[in-house]
Amino acid sequence: MKNAQIVVIGGGVVGASVAYHLAERGVGDVLILERGAVQGLGSTGAATGGVRAQFETEINIRMSLYSLDFFRNWEFDCEYEPAGYLFFATTGEQFDYLRRNVEKQRRLGVQDVEVVDAATIKRIVPILNCDDVVGGSFGGNDGFINPLAVMHGFTEGALKRGSRIEFETVVQSIIVRGGRVTGVETNRGRIGCESVVLCTGAWARELAATAGVDLPVEPQRRQIVWARSLAPLPDGLPMVIDIGSGFHFRPARDFAVKRSETGTHDVLFAYPNSDEPSSTDTNFDDSFVEKVYERAKHRSRFLFDTAVVREKCRAGLYENTPDHHAILGDCDVGGMYFANGFSGHGVMHSPATGRALSEIILDGKANFLDVSCLSPGRFAKNEMLHETAFI
Ligand SMILES: Cc1cc2nc3c(=O)[nH]c(=O)nc-3n(C[C@H](O)[C@H](O)[C@H](O)COP(=O)(O)OP(=O)(O)OC[C@H]3O[C@@H](n4cnc5c(N)ncnc54)[C@H](O)[C@@H]3O)c2cc1C
Repeated sequence: MKNAQIVVIGGGVVGASVAYHLAERGVGDVLILERGAVQGLGSTGAATGGVRAQFETEINIRMSLYSLDFFRNWEFDCEYEPAGYLFFATTGEQFDYLRRNVEKQRRLGVQDVEVVDAATIKRIVPILNCDDVVGGSFGGNDGFINPLAVMHGFTEGALKRGSRIEFETVVQSIIVRGGRVTGVETNRGRIGCESVVLCTGAWARELAATAGVDLPVEPQRRQIVWARSLAPLPDGLPMVIDIGSGFHFRPARDFAVKRSETGTHDVLFAYPNSDEPSSTDTNFDDSFVEKVYERAKHRSRFLFDTAVVREKCRAGLYENTPDHHAILGDCDVGGMYFANGFSGHGVMHSPATGRALSEIILDGKANFLDVSCLSPGRFAKNEMLHETAFI
């Protein structure tokens, strides 16, 4: 039987980061098992690469601060681009909420975030109809990264330090004996190990159940429309989000071409469709285009007049938890750890996640940042977090 000290299940950005951070701490025998023939076929490959510190909860803000700093200073170029995130409000109540968030973000060390009035918003985003906009918040260091570059950077770093990755290996179940993990069953046979880290994104619940653990992670399809404008996009267009409806848009980036070759006419826009049922369907549904344009009509004539680039529209899976926060940590089964349920923030929080998991596994708890509020046990104890600044 094959063996590894620690098996990381899932080779997306999160599994790669966990392996990287374990290897960096000197664990020489980490094995990543990935069911795809290549990496990036899960949610990481569908992500658009937004990164922001503008959240409501302290833990999300701190995870972002750590990760933004990491992206900025990493030896590996993950194409971090501080284009900014602009949230706008159309009611006084929403504006108060954004003001409170900015206050908290600043208190926690976010330096580049400010409350902005409607005139400033119009200046930053000239293509926005601001008639009903009362104000907003702008974070200048928020912006974009290349999710695939981040994933490959972590993977290269892990492999260079002695980790291994095996493709086309489907983990079918987690083997537990006497309350401890002893290995995993795969389509290629059994692999013995001391610990497993479940990094299977939207597909985590089913696998956790094989070890008798109920992990509340629900897959949900997310769709994004890619469109092309006649005139170039305004210079320095940030990510723009209506905090009321979640409708958002940003310049598009084609990760298959060099950043300098990306056109200035391509834009992404979408909204969170609350009617979308839980499923693992990743087909793009054409009727979504009409719904998005309907929302764009009032908000931006410029967006409404764009032409859809159908072959670049995308759909992928969010891995939602009941409180829209990640699940990080251990459980009652010895040697079993989770890094799941990022609810749309897994790429941006991957550096903090990898470090947290490596410290939880090797030191018993994360010392660089207290992530205990994200533990899997919080749901049974009814200690859910509250964050509404999600999209
Ligand atoms: C449309 C869209 C836009 C997004 N935009 C952003 C964004 O702007 N910023 C951001 O931070 N996040 C964004 N996200 C969320 C982000 O993509 C995810 O949170 C993140 O990619 C999760 O990474 P992961 O490694 O956990 O999951 P995945 O990338 O899904 O990786 C899980 C891996 O596990 C493998 N796997 C599953 N089951 C098994 C098994 N039984 N055996 C072996 N392997 C298995 C899969 O093949 C897959 O490769 C977006 C998501 C979508 C869908």
